[in-house]
Amino acid sequence: MALREIRTNDDSILRKKSKSVEQVNDRIRMILDDMVETLHNTPNGGALAANQVGVLRRLVVIDLGEGVKKLINPVIVSSQGEQFEPEACLSFPGLWGRVRRPQSVVVKALDENGCETEIHASDFMAKCLCHEIDHLDGIVFIDKAEELMED
Ligand code: ZN
Repeated sequence: MALREIRTNDDSILRKKSKSVEQVNDRIRMILDDMVETLHNTPNGGALAANQVGVLRRLVVIDLGEGVKKLINPVIVSSQGEQFEPEACLSFPGLWGRVRRPQSVVVKALDENGCETEIHASDFMAKCLCHEIDHLDGIVFIDKAEELMED
């Protein structure tokens, strides 16, 4: 495994749409492992999308303290309700803002073995999934945030 540099601020890769993963292979698993290692080496890190470490593939890792989730080609298939909570992003150090997100979502993805998985999430995890899936489309939270603030 290897640490990867987290891209920040006006790095243009943060604005690019990532490509779907066609085949879940050892190379994809290696990138996911690098993303997890990078996440665990970053203070306050809860999740990362692959383009944040320079890879334009639809990969997300999440660890909110309840175990690591590795998601390939994640898609929101349904959502309900609304929340309006503070968000931050490892790619925008020092910035905070409140973003309107669904209160709960159902996400379909492939796991690292290429098997279909479905996640039912609410509150913090739902917000996190929406934030990361936005990254895969080149959308960052400062685009959507109201009341953007600096630390
Ligand atoms: Zn982010």
